[in-house]
Amino acid sequence: MARRVGIYTRISRDDEGEALGVARQQQDCERLADLRSWQAVKVYEDNDVSAFKRNVVREEFELMLKDLRAGLIDGIVAYDLDRLARQPRDLERLIEIYDERPRLEFATVTNDINIGTPDGRTMARIMVAFANKSSHDASRRIQRKHLELAQQGKDSGGPAPYGWQKDDRTKVDPEAAKAIREAQREILAGVRIGTIRTRWQEQGLGNPRAGTKRMAHHHVEHILTNPRLVGYRTYHGEILYGEDGQPVRGEWEPINTLDEWEAVCAAIAERKQKHPGKMLARKYLLSGIARCGLCKTKIRGQVNQKWQPGSKAARFTYQCSVVNGGCGKVGRVGDPVDKLIAQLVLEEQRARAAVTEVPFDQRWPKDAELEQVNEDIAQLVEAERSKQITVATLLQLLPAKERERDELKLERARFYKEQKQAEAKGEARNMTVDEFLALPVERQQEIVLHSLSAVIIHPAGRGRRKFDPSLIEPVWR
Ligand SMILES: [Zn+2]
Repeated sequence: MARRVGIYTRISRDDEGEALGVARQQQDCERLADLRSWQAVKVYEDNDVSAFKRNVVREEFELMLKDLRAGLIDGIVAYDLDRLARQPRDLERLIEIYDERPRLEFATVTNDINIGTPDGRTMARIMVAFANKSSHDASRRIQRKHLELAQQGKDSGGPAPYGWQKDDRTKVDPEAAKAIREAQREILAGVRIGTIRTRWQEQGLGNPRAGTKRMAHHHVEHILTNPRLVGYRTYHGEILYGEDGQPVRGEWEPINTLDEWEAVCAAIAERKQKHPGKMLARKYLLSGIARCGLCKTKIRGQVNQKWQPGSKAARFTYQCSVVNGGCGKVGRVGDPVDKLIAQLVLEEQRARAAVTEVPFDQRWPKDAELEQVNEDIAQLVEAERSKQITVATLLQLLPAKERERDELKLERARFYKEQKQAEAKGEARNMTVDEFLALPVERQQEIVLHSLSAVIIHPAGRGRRKFDPSLIEPVWR
């Protein structure tokens, strides 16, 4: 039986072409595993973290150690020792496991070191010790330089982030910017990042260089929430503030207005809070919305095993199921139900829109208040600098003001988020049923839940073949 190995990849914050770097590391590792006739069973991918910074938890690295210890994998393939362990501490923890389980495999793409052997361990320790020192020195030097440039609003080097032109990072790439804005509108309308990721992958969007198969979830999230979109300069992933307390502005063209960007960030943050961890993809429009007419249990969609593309059999059914605590007596072919509900909901939303048109271009009413707080903060900082007040006084007064500012900013983000969400949902009313059914399922569900709280599917009796719309009862909100 082939030995089962895990592949470890890592990209540091300074490599801008993120997903691409990881994809290449992974490919090279897979090739190496192939050469040794090992089976690569799992990929551990840490991102945006610097292995030589202390106190940074590399979640996937930790998971890999656990799997290794538990015997889920029989070894590791990494791109190089640097990526795997720059801290001697990490290397020692790894070696400890190789001690416990002597037959483990080990390989890196760039050097021929095997920490499974005593010689290999000595070599690895020396290499990591040197790398650790030089990266500290180098990092201090480079950091100072980077910070200097960042404070001037200068762009960092490297390949252009998605959204800007490849040969000129200061200019917006109109196609990419359009894709970003469209995805952001979808996010506000309730579409999951995973859905956008799948679509982008199919369309070859989202990555500045073509040919990369895989795009990580967080990579897509980063593209859609990057402070760079509003022209903010970041430093180590954080928005950089100038001496005046204002965010440093970069020298490139922005893609979003501040309220657009804040709305998207707020929507994603809120959804994370509501749904920690992975959400189950809902495959059918009325899963969890439809209820059984007999027992009132929630009904889910079920794929029809006999269905094949082109066949006349039903693609899926809504079925009351004993497994989910239902009576199991009510079921209906899925597609006509979806179509009927789509029709009814779109009609209802058109009718309602005619009565109450929401104004979408309203400004947040507290702009002046926020500006005042920002000014207060700037004055306090200035007062300390010119020795009118002491540092102690400044630190006494500042936190309250900062809290006030942060609360106002949060409020502003929520305001625009709700406005944009209403706007994005409002678009539904001009859709045809077919256009509606072509949307991602979670977007369809958002629209449906806007009008309906449930759909009751009444029993159809035995032997009845034709779909009877009168047995489908929408429950309006
Ligand atoms: Zn039932």
